[in-house]
Amino acid sequence: MKSLQKVIDFIDNNLNDTAYYLHEDMKKHTTFKTGGPADLLVEPQSISEMQKLMRYVFKKEIPYLVIGQGSNLIVSDKGIRELVVKIGTNLSQCAVNNETIEAEAGATIINVSKEAQKHSLTGLEFACGIPGSVGGAVFMNAGAYDGEIKNILEEVLVLTVNGDLLIRKAKELELGYRTSVMQRNGEIILKAKFKLQKGNKDDISQKMKELTQRREKSQPLEFPSAGSIFKRPEGYYTGKLIEDANLKGYKIGGAQVSPKHAGFIINTGNATSSDILNLIKHIQTEVRNRFGVELETEVRTVGEF
Ligand SMILES: Cc1cc2nc3c(=O)[nH]c(=O)nc-3n(C[C@H](O)[C@H](O)[C@H](O)COP(=O)(O)OP(=O)(O)OC[C@H]3O[C@@H](n4cnc5c(N)ncnc54)[C@H](O)[C@@H]3O)c2cc1C
Repeated sequence: MKSLQKVIDFIDNNLNDTAYYLHEDMKKHTTFKTGGPADLLVEPQSISEMQKLMRYVFKKEIPYLVIGQGSNLIVSDKGIRELVVKIGTNLSQCAVNNETIEAEAGATIINVSKEAQKHSLTGLEFACGIPGSVGGAVFMNAGAYDGEIKNILEEVLVLTVNGDLLIRKAKELELGYRTSVMQRNGEIILKAKFKLQKGNKDDISQKMKELTQRREKSQPLEFPSAGSIFKRPEGYYTGKLIEDANLKGYKIGGAQVSPKHAGFIINTGNATSSDILNLIKHIQTEVRNRFGVELETEVRTVGEF
């Protein structure tokens, strides 16, 4: 907490536009709606303030965690002792220029796909139901229905661990199945430029409508979740493995394997993150014992354990 007080002092004395919150309830910042408080959560309102703040954080070696929409996160029930840097509506400008869209990392990828549709640009329809930020979507190389960020990303603006701003071309980012180089090098994504193609506005709307209907039909969107809990193991379908292990509907505390889609864990109302993590362990053990398949989580667990 001592080092976080230094961050507060730095913000008070040097930054005009950076909001901060003490003991912030992380349930408000995760789609699972679980997790304990963050000691300090900050929201810089511009890239220049973000850079100033993070240069200080890097120099003082203060541990930190960047989050977007928290739609792929399980936050420990004890909460987070590191500085939480939220990139959300505070950094969410989006600009269309011919066939490219440049969006700040905090814009939601859903809004960016709507913006593409408005300008008759095709290529981002696949993302119209992914509830993450642009930064989180690039970091995870998010994808759905045969589309993925890798196919449309031209370049990103990142903040390096030295505090420099740098443009990186998509091919430098080692984008693969739910992975990117940012998962290993600690760089913070501040903006992304997507290269799309001219299309027919009505066709784009129709495709987005169809994909939304497919999602609503197959996914438990009426409950808090983090989407697919596990990555797809090669040669298998995760949902089917879990179903064949007789775990569809299985519950620990308030966490349940969705009766609608076994690849999802849902918060039925009063789940804790421990319930979710215990359920994940149980599923992994059962699937390993029955089928010899290792299920690796796609969701990321953060905070104090
Ligand atoms: C109902 C539902 C459906 C979903 N469907 C899909 C789907 O179809 N396909 C899919 O791929 N995912 C899906 N997801 C998962 C999730 O939406 C994606 O993984 C998304 O890309 C995460 O973005 P986020 O902003 O929420 O990231 P967060 O959950 O906030 O963070 C995820 C990781 O990204 C890092 N991160 C976030 N922002 C930045 C940044 N600016 N710079 C550096 N690192 C950053 C964080 O440190 C963390 O490690 C779904 C989730 C839900 C709840």
